[in-house]
Amino acid sequence: MAGELITNAPRRALAVYAHPDDPEVSCGGLLARWAAAGSEVHAVVATRGDKGSADPLTDPTELASRRAREVDAAADVLGLAGVELLGHPDGELAGKTELVEELVGLVRRFRPDVVVGVDPTAVFFGDGYVNHVDHRVVGWATLDAVAPAASSPLYFPGQGPAHQVATLLLSGTLEPDTWADVEGTLDTKVAAMFCHRSQMGDDAGEWLGDFVRQRAAEEGRRAGVRFAEGFRRIRLVPEEVS
Ligand SMILES: [Zn+2]
Repeated sequence: MAGELITNAPRRALAVYAHPDDPEVSCGGLLARWAAAGSEVHAVVATRGDKGSADPLTDPTELASRRAREVDAAADVLGLAGVELLGHPDGELAGKTELVEELVGLVRRFRPDVVVGVDPTAVFFGDGYVNHVDHRVVGWATLDAVAPAASSPLYFPGQGPAHQVATLLLSGTLEPDTWADVEGTLDTKVAAMFCHRSQMGDDAGEWLGDFVRQRAAEEGRRAGVRFAEGFRRIRLVPEEVS
């Protein structure tokens, strides 16, 4: 497969993810790079992250507020223009047209050239992991919101004037064909991920950087650079390259 590197920075980008730490984990290097290059980058987090704990005594509401603060801190590190928290409970997104409508409203409000999101067709990674249902649901809702709903005025007419997104970049994919060189922003990505302390324990300083560098180096080998993040790219407006 011929891989391509992302070279341009869009005027505006929107990253749509399920859980509070997903944008950093999935595409933090790319978002930081675009923000540093002057792109207006917004993120959407669909859930409250209220079930993101292995401790049965956790208070879900307290966890959700802690995670909202972690989102703000991480967004500052990445240089994002803002993050929209949709506030849905974890694991309860399935079958909601409401989510598609919310995303259509945000796409029409922010008018991004590029939407970065989840590849919902990736269900199994190897033989030991089932992709989280929230990732799959948000991934499908993002596709449904971008193509065709947001660009088509008769869909959700109350959500603002139609907007055509030029490019979709899907992370968490089994079929990457496009890579972002993130050597310059890998430390920023690690710092942003480190803001999500509720998810990684107090010893994260010891392993997080190595873990992220190792994953980015694997993708980098596929892309022919030192460190990369991989995506599946869908060009909805073929003449616009980003
Ligand atoms: Zn997640």
